[in-house]
Amino acid sequence: MPSKDSPLPSFMQWEELHSLVGSISTRSLVARPKTLPQCQEALAWCRDNGMTICARGAGRGYGDLALNDGHALLDMSGMNRILDFDEERARITVEAGTRLIDIYEHVHHLLLTLPGSPTESHSSVAGAICANVNGKDGWHYGNFSQRVIRMTLLRADGETVEVDRDHELFNAIMGGIGLLGIVIDATLQLVPIKSNFVKILRTPAADTDALLALLDELKDDHDAAVVWIDAYGKGKRLGRSVVHTAQWVDREDTEEERREFLDAGFRRLEHHRRFGLALHEKFGPVLSFMLNAQRPALYLFNRFYYTMSRLASWTGRNTTSELFLRFNFEASFTVPPAHLVCGPHGYTVQLNFPKHGAKEAIDEILTICQSSPCPPVTTILRAHQADEGLLSFSKNGYSLNFEFHPKKRHEERSREAVNRIIDATVKRGGRIHLAKDQVLTPEQFHRVYPRYNELLLIKKRLDPNGLFISDLARRVGIDPVLNAKVGDPA
Ligand SMILES: Cc1cc2nc3c(=O)[nH]c(=O)nc-3n(C[C@H](O)[C@H](O)[C@H](O)COP(=O)(O)OP(=O)(O)OC[C@H]3O[C@@H](n4cnc5c(N)ncnc54)[C@H](O)[C@@H]3O)c2cc1C
Repeated sequence: MPSKDSPLPSFMQWEELHSLVGSISTRSLVARPKTLPQCQEALAWCRDNGMTICARGAGRGYGDLALNDGHALLDMSGMNRILDFDEERARITVEAGTRLIDIYEHVHHLLLTLPGSPTESHSSVAGAICANVNGKDGWHYGNFSQRVIRMTLLRADGETVEVDRDHELFNAIMGGIGLLGIVIDATLQLVPIKSNFVKILRTPAADTDALLALLDELKDDHDAAVVWIDAYGKGKRLGRSVVHTAQWVDREDTEEERREFLDAGFRRLEHHRRFGLALHEKFGPVLSFMLNAQRPALYLFNRFYYTMSRLASWTGRNTTSELFLRFNFEASFTVPPAHLVCGPHGYTVQLNFPKHGAKEAIDEILTICQSSPCPPVTTILRAHQADEGLLSFSKNGYSLNFEFHPKKRHEERSREAVNRIIDATVKRGGRIHLAKDQVLTPEQFHRVYPRYNELLLIKKRLDPNGLFISDLARRVGIDPVLNAKVGDPA
């Protein structure tokens, strides 16, 4: 065990880190362990030197949930080995930092998929567990937590514990933003599929009623859904949208053919990630310029997109068959990244509300957005199932995901509108997704997540000195006692 004067482990150093949206900058002592003993060494060093620690996966959460300004970060991306694959039972055991795309590369040609995978394919398994992320297939498969069979958790005292679905810690760790310990590895249940292709149907809906009726009608036959909403549509156009649904397709491809399709699919994703993102950076200033005239620019763009979708639907050109990889993951690179869409003063907000009363919720929230000087730049709706996570984001219902790009002079009024949409969500028993959050205040957090007290009780027992914390946890007042910062000696 290191003593008070113990030297810094060689795999720890001070680094600058930024939130994905870009508006939060921090400096942390970053550890990049490759093994469990190195994780234990980092924890012991932090305990002995009065530092708190926050686990970080791929750092693909939008806000400050994987940041820990002035304290330590345990970057788990180097612990990324596939430990076991049981093809017969469709189960895979991986280290915490394994990316979801790595799992797809390992199993997808065997006609297996991992439901609950978010659009960001580079998210790590532990990041997906601790933020309890959701995929486009949430209406049938629920959140990522539904895939988890067991995990190894490293506790604050340096001991490990096995946690399966019956363990009392299970629902506290799912979506528990890493406050109870470090996930070291996990076993996930995969699901068989008919082929690697999905048939996509793009159907326009004239308003909120039509949108919800369409989702009900398509749900039984379609495996996944994601809805683009025109947040600028008013009056009888409120909730005007285009519903994208996907169904697995029956095909007779040989394993060799599947490998060929998929190799090309993975290469395409990598190509888009590298060149798509670089291109967006290059044209970032053009996007910023357009977003200066946000209202007219988006009003016209949305009108154009909706009209084109209607035309495609009328002419029967609204279905395509494509690799699931493309449907599920490619939007991460074709849509400009959040720091460009949101700009220097912006943020994302994803809020979930129950199915009962969904029409009123959608209409009220969109109307509030329209009263803001800066309505959302993008608005996406998804369908979800509830689960038992203590900080679980989703109810059995729908979520709206917004990207806001307020100008400096509108920051305050834009924030007021965001507070009102949070109120409208909470009054319906809804939730705010912590993986996308950088705005919740302690008062709002306590209203959104009343069960956080149950998590705190467990935390007090497992981690009485508050070793595990993050900037998000401090911001929402999860444990104000831990707010004091230890200075950066550099
Ligand atoms: C383009 C894009 C699209 C996205 N689409 C979706 C989407 O469709 N659905 C969705 O739900 N989210 C989505 N997200 C958000 C993202 O998928 C989640 O935030 C996910 O948690 C990121 O994984 P990560 O490995 O980067 O985790 P990080 O951001 O690094 O960490 C997330 C949380 O997990 C904790 N954590 C990480 N590793 C460990 C560990 N080993 N032990 C304990 N705690 C740990 C961290 O402390 C933090 O609280 C998207 C993000 C981007 C950038």
